[in-house]
Amino acid sequence: MNYALLLCGGSGKRMGSLPVGKTLMPVGGIPAVVRCARAFSSADCRLILVVPQGQESLYHDVLGHFGLSARITAGGKERQDSVGRGLALVPEDGDLVLIHDGARPLVSEKLIRELIRQALISGSAVPALPVTDTLKRADADGTVLGTTDRAGLYRVQTPQVFCAGDLRKARAAAGEGPFTDDAQVMEQAGFKVHLCPGEADNLKLTYPEDFVMAEKLLSPLFRTGFGLDAHRLTAGRDLVLCGVRVPYDKGLDGHSDADVALHALTDALLGACALGDIGTWFPDTCEEYRGISSRILLERAAALVRDKGFEIVSCDITIVCQKPKLAPYIGQMREYTAESLGLDTDRVSVKATTTEGMGYEGRGEGISAHACATVSAPWGKQDQATPASQTL
Ligand code: MG
Repeated sequence: MNYALLLCGGSGKRMGSLPVGKTLMPVGGIPAVVRCARAFSSADCRLILVVPQGQESLYHDVLGHFGLSARITAGGKERQDSVGRGLALVPEDGDLVLIHDGARPLVSEKLIRELIRQALISGSAVPALPVTDTLKRADADGTVLGTTDRAGLYRVQTPQVFCAGDLRKARAAAGEGPFTDDAQVMEQAGFKVHLCPGEADNLKLTYPEDFVMAEKLLSPLFRTGFGLDAHRLTAGRDLVLCGVRVPYDKGLDGHSDADVALHALTDALLGACALGDIGTWFPDTCEEYRGISSRILLERAAALVRDKGFEIVSCDITIVCQKPKLAPYIGQMREYTAESLGLDTDRVSVKATTTEGMGYEGRGEGISAHACATVSAPWGKQDQATPASQTL
């Protein structure tokens, strides 16, 4: 079993005054420590939190609120004391220890899994990025004394991954610090430390502007889909639009209830997520869908969209219809549609228009509907490809 040691002791002095420790501050609406804990849990690590003295139950409650659990201990005075207290909770037969700054909430499951894989091969794995900025040395007044060659220099991140036994031996052998990270303890004790590509997004919350950057990186990506459908008007059928039965002497012809507006919306939702179209999922050759309420098809499409990790943000439908007048039913159409999608009514727009007698809608031969749907992908950050430059 692998153990993630989340160090949450930072007081956030460089943040100005914070109401709580910085690892409890929300990032994208979720406490930083919870984001870390989720990533390591997803990568099958047991969690150990090292937190400020006296805040053990607070952290316990925060994790519990998000359905997470961890062994929690109070930290020591220096970073290495805190690591020692956390390490004491790792069983003797623990395999790898992943030491992570609780103030790096954007660590990804992908990075954690890759570091574990590398550490199993090499005995250690430390994420790092090459230094790309030019480095200057300067005196206290800011006068440049020289330029440092940046070749072979790296910015080191966490989690730093070591075999539990090696880390214990290294800590016993390394002597007095100060050590700014755990890799330094290993180096000092003569262990080889292996660098692996880190992630540019894996930033540490140190200054207020780091929170701003983290929020930007977490802001959701939006996608929009479009749908268009048309059905023929015929005698002897009910006219159903957005789930509402509209009194009229004709109805729309089709395999299902032929709710043209919800068909267009279903296509828009599926289109926003590149999930094909209504015919892909609910073919009109299938007996199951004969006479079915299109609200059921819409609800199933919404479930498909959510299963893919998207959230439905809003939708807008325009029904093109010469007769009957739809204005009296628009409110109910919006409510029915919003209910089917689990959205507030103010996120669902339904409009109707005529074509001033032109075309098949204008001649009363049929009704068409156009729909747009917007969805958000909350995993936007992880969805982005890693730029090729991020290799060691
Ligand atoms: Mg249709």
